Amino acid sequence: MLFISTRGQSGKVSSAHAIKNGLASDGGLYVPQRFPEIPLEEILSMHALPYEQCAVKILSLFLTDYRPDELTDCAVAAYSREKFGPDPAPLRKVCDRTDVLELWHGPTMAFKDIALQILPHLMTRAQMKTGSETRIVILAATSGDTGKAALEGFADVPGTEIIVFYPEDGVSPVQKLQMVTQAGNNTRVFGINGNFDDAQRGVKEIFSDASLAKELKECGWVFSSANSINWGRLAPQITYYFKSYADAVANERIKPGEKVIFAVPTGNFGDILAGYYAKKMGLPVERFICASNSNNVLTDFINTGIYNKVRPLNKTVSPSMDILVSSNLERLLFDLSDNDADQIAKWMEQLNTEGQYQVSQELSERVRDLFFAAWVDEEETVETIGSVYNDHEYVLDPHTAVAWRAAQKYRLLTSDERYIIVLSTASPYKFCNTVLKGIGKGDGTDTDSPFDAARRLSEATEMPVPKQVSLLEEAAIRHKDVIDAGDMAINIKKALGIS
Ligand SMILES: *Cc1c(COP(=O)(O)O)cnc(C)c1O
Repeated sequence: MLFISTRGQSGKVSSAHAIKNGLASDGGLYVPQRFPEIPLEEILSMHALPYEQCAVKILSLFLTDYRPDELTDCAVAAYSREKFGPDPAPLRKVCDRTDVLELWHGPTMAFKDIALQILPHLMTRAQMKTGSETRIVILAATSGDTGKAALEGFADVPGTEIIVFYPEDGVSPVQKLQMVTQAGNNTRVFGINGNFDDAQRGVKEIFSDASLAKELKECGWVFSSANSINWGRLAPQITYYFKSYADAVANERIKPGEKVIFAVPTGNFGDILAGYYAKKMGLPVERFICASNSNNVLTDFINTGIYNKVRPLNKTVSPSMDILVSSNLERLLFDLSDNDADQIAKWMEQLNTEGQYQVSQELSERVRDLFFAAWVDEEETVETIGSVYNDHEYVLDPHTAVAWRAAQKYRLLTSDERYIIVLSTASPYKFCNTVLKGIGKGDGTDTDSPFDAARRLSEATEMPVPKQVSLLEEAAIRHKDVIDAGDMAINIKKALGIS
């Protein structure tokens, strides 16, 4: 299987190259040349397989330059019981025609673990396969979830260093503790005096600094990124769409072959795109519900065909979806325009220069056939946490609540009573104060200690505090450095032992 760029100006590469490079040289995203189909029988058989074997089944279709035993080693290391508990993606029955797919049983309690636990293994093998002798330095600027998930994934992975920058005053107390207590001999974490944009701008500048790259290369290092445009992050997310469908049939929630709906809390469009690819590969899906918070660029795009990023970014109670440019949408448009790379390159250029682009009426209709879009405001999000708890004794985190509410809107508008799987992307324990407010036990502010809030949530809901939270309370602070954004490069060199 070879990979091509959505912008058509760079050559075909193997999967190892696609994973190593992340972004294609023309600025486009790598996509597989074709999508293999999986027969229904084989989909259903995934119910009886352990999760890591399901992952190998899917990954082996795309990563054809990895041997099956290599992929098995990667998946077994990534999805161990120690890291994810007995099932990395359990499907919970919540009410009559709606289930929740819990994707947050990994080390950082967010769905990003599912991809970021396996990516480092895929990446270090990609280095070997491409004959590269350099070691990888992963750089990330984070507003919270991604940085921690990447740190956990790359910690102590041989041949890698990971350096994460977070805005000193811009992450939640739990998120900050998660990062500054990070273990691993190859991990470095820096607070930045400034906001997320300052941190991100700094990282982008470092990525495009040719003389720094040269200096690093002479010492055997190369920069790479772990963000969600990497094919190695996207492909592992296809697995749980297939697995959850097989589980739903086995649990007699649906009949074999019956079409289902997935409701997905969406930010960068990575998670929901993996679902679209699963459908393309033969999974019986009627439609996807693309759920947004008040940063509703995607809702507008799906409903009008105009993508317009020129608007203020709102800070919401579902912060991991606070995003104005959903990078992975480019892959969907490439596919739905029958691989029209020239057109994609034009739209992306327009987005850069004018802040918006408009797709053709025909393409816009194709998007709407596949995706129903809805957005959910702050009050509705909190209210949904309360009503689902009261009606079904199930506790939603704010991101999942956005998807649940969007699914309700879909039912109201369409009267479609089809079975819906709501993807749950974070543990409620990551956002205790908002959840406590939702279930009527708090006012939503971050006043008390995060551990007191977790204990109050546990008392109210009778769900035990997860060990990822309780261990944090005792963990030693290992990363104390807070630096100016202008000093990022010099601190990277210091961390790597280059003077
Ligand atoms: C990253 C994230 C999302 C959004 O996923 P995308 O793949 O970026 O669309 C939703 N919820 C949580 C909790 C996340 O961390």
